[in-house]
Amino acid sequence: MIRMASPAIGKNEIECVIEVLESGMLAQGAKVHQFEEAFASYIGTKYAVATSNGTTALHTALLAAGIKDGDEVITTPFSFIATGNAILFCGAKPVFVDIEEKTFNLDPNLIEPAITPKTKAVMVVHLYGQPCDMDKIGAICRKHDLILIEDACQAHGSEYNGNKVGSFGTGCFSFYPTKNMTTGEGGMITTNDSKIAKSLGMIRNHGQNGRYHHEILGYNFRMTDISAALGLCQLEQLDEFNRKRIENATFLTEAIRDIDGLIPPHVTQNAKHVFHQFTIRVTDEFGISREEFQQRLNEKGIDSAIHYRTPIHQQPAYQNLGYRDQLPVAEKAAQEVLSLPIHPNLSKDDLNSIVQGLKDAR
Ligand SMILES: *Cc1c(COP(=O)(O)O)cnc(C)c1O
Repeated sequence: MIRMASPAIGKNEIECVIEVLESGMLAQGAKVHQFEEAFASYIGTKYAVATSNGTTALHTALLAAGIKDGDEVITTPFSFIATGNAILFCGAKPVFVDIEEKTFNLDPNLIEPAITPKTKAVMVVHLYGQPCDMDKIGAICRKHDLILIEDACQAHGSEYNGNKVGSFGTGCFSFYPTKNMTTGEGGMITTNDSKIAKSLGMIRNHGQNGRYHHEILGYNFRMTDISAALGLCQLEQLDEFNRKRIENATFLTEAIRDIDGLIPPHVTQNAKHVFHQFTIRVTDEFGISREEFQQRLNEKGIDSAIHYRTPIHQQPAYQNLGYRDQLPVAEKAAQEVLSLPIHPNLSKDDLNSIVQGLKDAR
């Protein structure tokens, strides 16, 4: 089976983790600090604060921005559920605006009409590894004095106009095993603001400022030194992992161009898309349904996945909160998208098998 994800854990990672285990210092310590410095330097921000996962990174970033009960945060409905949930965890209301058809990212033209006196922040998601339109979105945030939070959980190393995502606002990353780099579970928040960095550090550690001195309400959202050791090794290889993902995506895109009814991913100008996912559209023109297509690929030993079958506003947990928005572009995307294997461990044979599988599926 050609799998959707295959975390690349090498000898170096194993040795680094053993070293931490033998040191006896397992919880948040020197390795976490080292990983934070290396990550900030990679993204090009002054600070980075490690957390237990991407969801707690988003939650912590929103809390540090002062998002609270009664506030509204504009975001995309076409993302993993954590994007919306982190806003709810703060007592705030996610306000969903529709996406662009081509990029699957938040449509900048729909942000201003959604702004109300309660709007405090915009949370963008660089979906599948493709950066959002940061020129337009950055300008809107400045004009209306809104906080910009980037869910970059799928976009480690992705760039817009030569700048890494996560450096435009407060950046949130996940190191879950399927992501472009992993620490098992883990997260990171990037910022240039020293006050925000200090709040982030306190919120993820019980509001502590000095030993057993708790200034604010905080949580245990810490990363372990074991995870950080993995992260340091993975970060060194991130550019190479991404290079392979992009190379694989270029190969598959070329092949898919010739197949009627399949639309390969669009890459916007001035963007470095790092292909966390390689997501195509299966349109009616293709002749068989997406589900049938998926089944036939599976029979040929090719795994695939749907990111995402249900937009966040249509999830039962949100329906129960009273969400009744109609967001047609996101809802149509949810019907058509199909992600194919793209990870850096794919061999030339794997890639050829995928192309053959796509061609033979009908
Ligand atoms: C993975 C992911 C998250 C959550 O990260 P975890 O580490 O799984 O908590 C949030 N947002 C998006 C867009 C993601 O892909």
